[in-house]
Amino acid sequence: MSETFKALVVEKEDQGTSASVQDLTLADLPEAEVTVAVEYSTVNYKDGLCIGPGGGLVRNYPHVPGIDFAGTVEASSDDRYKTGDKVVLTGWRVGEAHWGGYSQKARVRADWLVPLPKGLTTRQAMAVGTAGFTAMLAVQVLEDHGIKAGPVLVTGAAGGVGSVAVALLSAMGKQVAAVTGRPEQAEYLTSLGATQIVPREDLAETVKRPLEGETWGGCVDAVGGAMLARLLGQMEYGASVAAVGLAGGASLPATVIPFLLRGVNLLGIDSVLQPYENRVRAWDRLAELLPMDKLEAMIVEKTLEDLPRTGADILKGQVRGRVVVDVN
Ligand code: NDP
Repeated sequence: MSETFKALVVEKEDQGTSASVQDLTLADLPEAEVTVAVEYSTVNYKDGLCIGPGGGLVRNYPHVPGIDFAGTVEASSDDRYKTGDKVVLTGWRVGEAHWGGYSQKARVRADWLVPLPKGLTTRQAMAVGTAGFTAMLAVQVLEDHGIKAGPVLVTGAAGGVGSVAVALLSAMGKQVAAVTGRPEQAEYLTSLGATQIVPREDLAETVKRPLEGETWGGCVDAVGGAMLARLLGQMEYGASVAAVGLAGGASLPATVIPFLLRGVNLLGIDSVLQPYENRVRAWDRLAELLPMDKLEAMIVEKTLEDLPRTGADILKGQVRGRVVVDVN
């Protein structure tokens, strides 16, 4: 009998979906070049959708979610990877269109992997995960366009992207203003390096005046919607906003005035299809810049069995920092 391993399998039902931990064999995995013994995965907002009703992201059932993972190569038919190599995967619609990391084994294309960055363990790489990797991409884009003198605003700050963005910007010596709807997370955000806490309601109102005081030297925005529209009018002359997420909505009820009169830049961030060189650049920078004690303070550890509950919690905005899933 072939060896079995555990995975979280989501099945379609008459009404909605159900997720449970099941035994699979290697023959169940999709065809691809590299088989990885997964050590850790994480829980991102998209994972909440894919563990639950799918959110239009999952096409075929049964499905194994998990949009990122880190582990050790077990078998490879591609020259770039050999048995025993430590690897990380984020993006490429793994965990959505392809089976993902909520499994003790995964089989993926070699093009989708990057080597585990020097200085990080597989657990630390997944504490960073897609959320932290995306925060790094956002911070790099802000740097490339020039961060101005004022504090850098981070919205959705107590979430995964926000927590890592706060810690990275603080490590770069920036003043960081953290926007949160959870006042009880103020101490946590300060411990990550936030120098100012901005209550969510301060930015909740829709745009009344297209320009307000020039306050922020840059922004990593995980929220979108009315908050993004509002903060555009508060950016310093020539400052940039990296638009990462839509935790507060996909609309953008804004005016173009901040672009025209203040030269504000709105910069889109996509982590899914980033070219290989940019991925390696971002991971190397994360390993160099992110203080590991702050990363450790963001971690909540979970198992495969915990995932249906944790997936529902992240959709309700109730997860703090980064969830690391020990799949073994
Ligand atoms: P989390 O759920 O961990 O964090 C989102 C945070 O946003 C919450 O913790 C909360 O922070 C805040 N928030 C939630 N709901 C609202 C609301 N209605 N209004 C205002 N603020 C709200 O998710 P992630 O950090 O993993 O992801 C954040 C966003 O970034 C998601 O939309 C995700 O899809 C997107 N994303 C995009 C990527 C890309 O490639 N562009 C990659 C990764 C993520 P607080 O409690 O502090 O207010």
